[in-house]
Amino acid sequence: MKAIPRILVTGAGGFIGHHLVRRLKNDGFWVRGVDIKPPEYEPSDADEFMLIDLRLWENCLKATKGVDQVYNLAADMGGIGYITANHADISRNNTLINTHILDASRLNGAQKFLFSSSACVYPQYKQKDPDVTPLKESDAVPADPEPGYGWEKLFAEELCRYYKKDYGFETRIVRFHNVYGPLGTYEGGKEKAPAAISRKVALAEDNGEIEVWGDGAQTRSFMYVDDCVEGLLRLMASDYAQPLNLGTDRLVTINELIDLVSGLAGKNLKKHHDLTKPQGVRGRNSDNTLLNQVLGWEPKIRLEEGLQITYKWIEGELRKAGRLRPVEAVQVAR
Ligand code: NAD
Repeated sequence: MKAIPRILVTGAGGFIGHHLVRRLKNDGFWVRGVDIKPPEYEPSDADEFMLIDLRLWENCLKATKGVDQVYNLAADMGGIGYITANHADISRNNTLINTHILDASRLNGAQKFLFSSSACVYPQYKQKDPDVTPLKESDAVPADPEPGYGWEKLFAEELCRYYKKDYGFETRIVRFHNVYGPLGTYEGGKEKAPAAISRKVALAEDNGEIEVWGDGAQTRSFMYVDDCVEGLLRLMASDYAQPLNLGTDRLVTINELIDLVSGLAGKNLKKHHDLTKPQGVRGRNSDNTLLNQVLGWEPKIRLEEGLQITYKWIEGELRKAGRLRPVEAVQVAR
């Protein structure tokens, strides 16, 4: 009988890692999850969950023992406010995690290693216009990535390529473009735009106002987490060892994103634009030409559909925490 493949997911207490563990378990794999914290909103489906700090070499050796494949999603990261304010910590922490887990995976005999990189590796000089030309993988150099977080991701990508070249170690490199969905952080500074907007819209009174970072004309593309997980499995199964975009190529402004979420909530809201807050690059979109060529696939879930699920989940969490009126009270009041 063929043995069931053993998979390690680092960052399994985080947003994408938690969804990935659930999918891998559904697909019949044996899964070890590792993180410095357990998942925030529901228990992990992993067969084994280690609460350890992957900045430390000994812990990386423990985490990678006896596994066939490694999905490395652990990272010190957050929304634009967090990554702008913490260049030193983010760069140091992620350098330690990525160098140690990559080498420990190789030494412990893993067959494949996937590194989760980011669209933040793309040069800032190519992202100055909201009507941005979609970014293709070869655009990453000459380099001018997001300070701190983006520079570290770019170097960790290079490290994966060197491991493939020098040791024949099978590395995979994915560049995510804005992943969103339920069971992700929606408050506290580490949340990203779709979650922050959903929280603000849920907490606002109808005909009230919400705060928007920047003028809201900045553009991005957004991928629902189920598509992200599907893409990860497909890339891992492929033989492609160069960086690959994983995102949608539907460009929306932040103002449009707010209107979509307000519409789902049935609220009419005014936007207060705070121009003192960081907004990141002016425009960013994914060129999916290579993704389609390599995987014969691209993300499919419509933004409206994914946002509806995400908004409902965040609204439900706020209600559970007693920060919104219970549904019955809202119905009576109407
Ligand atoms: P997340 O913050 O929810 O998950 C990352 C997890 O890593 C967290 O649970 C955190 O506790 C864990 N971690 C941090 N330091 C650790 C340490 N020293 N030891 C062990 N665990 C540690 O983020 P996510 O959205 O799930 O992102 C997963 C990966 O995808 C990250 O590498 C991130 O940089 C990358 N990424 C995400 C997005 C996105 O839109 N979500 C975009 C681009 C890239």
